[in-house]
Amino acid sequence: MSESFDIAIVGGSMVGAALALGAARAGFRVVLIERTKPVFHWPADSHDLRVSALTRASETILRNLGTWADMRVCAYECMRVWDARGFGEVAFDAADIGEPNLGHVVENREIVAALWRGIGQRSEIGVVIGQGVAALEEDGSALRLDDGRVLRAQLLVGADGARSRLRELTGIGLIARDYDQHAVVATVRLATGHRATAWQRFLPEGPLALLPLRDDLFSIVWSTTPVEATTLVEVPPEDFARRLTLASEHCCGDLVLVDPQRVAFPLRLQRATRYVHPGIALLGDAAHVIHPLAGQGVNLGLLDAGVLLDVLGDARSRGEPLGALGVLRRYERARKGHNLAVQMTMDAFKHLFSNRNPALYLARNLGLGLADRIVPLRRQFERIALGQGIELPALAQNRSDTCC
Ligand SMILES: Cc1cc2nc3c(=O)[nH]c(=O)nc-3n(C[C@H](O)[C@H](O)[C@H](O)COP(=O)(O)OP(=O)(O)OC[C@H]3O[C@@H](n4cnc5c(N)ncnc54)[C@H](O)[C@@H]3O)c2cc1C
Repeated sequence: MSESFDIAIVGGSMVGAALALGAARAGFRVVLIERTKPVFHWPADSHDLRVSALTRASETILRNLGTWADMRVCAYECMRVWDARGFGEVAFDAADIGEPNLGHVVENREIVAALWRGIGQRSEIGVVIGQGVAALEEDGSALRLDDGRVLRAQLLVGADGARSRLRELTGIGLIARDYDQHAVVATVRLATGHRATAWQRFLPEGPLALLPLRDDLFSIVWSTTPVEATTLVEVPPEDFARRLTLASEHCCGDLVLVDPQRVAFPLRLQRATRYVHPGIALLGDAAHVIHPLAGQGVNLGLLDAGVLLDVLGDARSRGEPLGALGVLRRYERARKGHNLAVQMTMDAFKHLFSNRNPALYLARNLGLGLADRIVPLRRQFERIALGQGIELPALAQNRSDTCC
């Protein structure tokens, strides 16, 4: 592969694959480089332990990319959030805001496979699978892959996750802090069905989220201390189910593990000091990693992709080079502040609810109570869950010309 491209994207998971599809749809010549082979088929009764709660904005992006109908999704209509050590509680209901639901929970493998099926239908997207990036060449306008091939592009994009190689090669700095929490993920079933409700209980060690999945299953994201996380992964399934039922305060009755497998992910806050460099842009987890307590990571990454496409489309119509720093700065300005605000809000929630200080205990319980009783405040939270209240890129706006 010796041709040059408009855009070379490193990393073809949810964010990079969405960008590739959107860029091809906008008429850019794209090459997508992904180290791991995408998976398209799995046993019907299996479940991905990794799921994402998607906002309405993300749903619209995936609809506009033509992949939404190709994914199994589970809508949730209500959400209940409460503090394990007090009286604070807030309940959200889509019906109160005239919406059909508050969002959808989707297995990550469904999102990635649907995007790659879309990519497979676009012959103009060059794809390199099973290769990583070894080096930057020609003053950062070309990538040398592990097998020695060199790819040139006007713009190189790092969508290669939290440990971004492109970020490292570019020398962009990182601000990072460990949360001293691990998130244990598992899939459970409950006899009563999930009633299209998501639950989140703030425990002293971290939040426990129960996200409704298809077939009356729940996906669990249980953030806790690293020591407890290790125990939760290692104890026999029945013991885990008993601990989980207790930790959830029996909100959904007895919970049973569907699959004995559980995995723990170390949690950290991380952000790149810059999102751009001449000829290079970072997005998704390569640019920012946030606490999963409000399920916003991939939602922010998809908005990054939408905004970058708007900026690149404008640059092309003005005859500006795609990799010019002045062009890329427009993308950075549009996204960095918003991502930082969401990141800091999640960080504040994490600290507020993991703190044993009696004043903070009172404050958070009063806060949850107020959020429940003061309707405008509750509406604001509902808008955040839906991914509303910000200026959306064209890809996240409803339109009739949904295509390909
Ligand atoms: C427990 C947990 C629960 C979460 N729940 C939610 C949720 O409900 N909602 C939500 O919005 N977010 C959630 N998140 C966050 C979300 O998972 C991430 O924000 C999202 O996966 C980031 O996507 P990405 O495409 O940017 O990066 P990644 O998913 O990390 O993908 C990076 C891709 O790049 C590839 N790659 C890496 N290096 C190279 C290289 N050198 N060359 C080629 N390819 C490379 C990798 O193989 C991978 O495919 C959660 C996170 C955790 C840990």
